[in-house]
Amino acid sequence: MRSFHSWLVVVLVPIFYFLFSACLHAQNAKKEKVDMLVAGGTVVTMNAERRIIEDGAVAVNGDAIVAVGSRANMESKYVAAQSINASGKLVLPGFINGHTHVPMTLLRGLRDDVTLDEWLRKYIFPAEAKNVTEEFVRWGTRLAAAEQIRGGVTKSNSAMLEYTEKFLKRWQGDALIHAAVAPHSIYTCSQKTLQDAAALARKYGAPILIHVAEMKKELDDSRAKNGTTPVQYLDKLGILGPDIVAAHCIFVDQADRKILAQRQVGCVHNPSSNMMLASGVAPVIEERAAGVAVGLGTDGPAGSNNDLDLMEEMDLAAKLQKITKMDPQALGAKAVVEMATIEGARALHMEKEIGSLEAGRKADLILVGLGAPNAVPMYDIYAQLAYALKGSDVETVIIGGRVVMRDKKLLTVDEPAVIAKAKEFKNKIEASLK
Ligand SMILES: [Zn+2]
Repeated sequence: MRSFHSWLVVVLVPIFYFLFSACLHAQNAKKEKVDMLVAGGTVVTMNAERRIIEDGAVAVNGDAIVAVGSRANMESKYVAAQSINASGKLVLPGFINGHTHVPMTLLRGLRDDVTLDEWLRKYIFPAEAKNVTEEFVRWGTRLAAAEQIRGGVTKSNSAMLEYTEKFLKRWQGDALIHAAVAPHSIYTCSQKTLQDAAALARKYGAPILIHVAEMKKELDDSRAKNGTTPVQYLDKLGILGPDIVAAHCIFVDQADRKILAQRQVGCVHNPSSNMMLASGVAPVIEERAAGVAVGLGTDGPAGSNNDLDLMEEMDLAAKLQKITKMDPQALGAKAVVEMATIEGARALHMEKEIGSLEAGRKADLILVGLGAPNAVPMYDIYAQLAYALKGSDVETVIIGGRVVMRDKKLLTVDEPAVIAKAKEFKNKIEASLK
């Protein structure tokens, strides 16, 4: 009897196994193959309806999102080469840092608590003149990449180098690098420089990044010299258009806001920087009401913020408007999450590519853990993101379909090497200023 049983097992198990796998194979053969399925978890799409999908999934092929839906539905349609389990986590479009100066990470904390003028003349300009080399830019950019990926930033708009025609040609059509022309501001650039920069950018279809109406002095000087506000001066020069990304936009009156909206200029609000430099409070609510796309940026990371944590900017953006208006309803959690994602994409004129989780968008997404003490309990997702969760709660980051951080481990940046180099640079920079 016993040997008969063993014989049965020997014969039947392979038969069952064969039938089962054939069945599974037939089922999978009907499914569409994709490269990656991020499944489970709460998918915060930031699409037009601001749809939130509990137990959702995102299918990715190459560098693009193929579909977004419920996990059950997506698993019945797609078979993936790589699965990422997101259960118990939030799945969001990657954050967009609309304004920063990345290689300046190496000058982080060089000198703080001084006026902008003193900071620039006494510290930053000499430090840059003596230290900025290709090597400096390379390591500073790597350090910034490591920090930004850790905080869930998948797109960062950096202005520092004076990008030349050669640079624009080199990066034209590149999927990851969007070369931009960055004339600093109306007070550091002549009318001719501004117009030449705009013409160069337009020749290559590159965006133009510029600091606009950041300081009271800039407004006063513009009124005295140009007879008008910084925004209206730039408009008179023919510079404002849908390819302009204007950082700060603090001293903009009602007429300026109307022009910014009409010309489809994107604005980037940098609350940390505006507070740290005591620049002023941007009229974010009025800008949004006028129809201007307002994104969020860290600025810095030297002298005007000192870190690249965009989640901190969400928190501060809301609180800064609340205290300024003495109204806790002035700017809410949902609005600041929008500014870090889809509105930030609109400000960069890239809302058809990034900023939301939708079919056809670039596969830039992040998984935010909800296991830390500061993450529980969660009643409202947007409030949790804006006021309770931190950049350090970001666990996994995918940029253009490529996993660049998995469970808090960076995969594309040699983090220990970058940290060691940053310390080395500090000694060199300090010595150069003696
Ligand atoms: Zn700046």
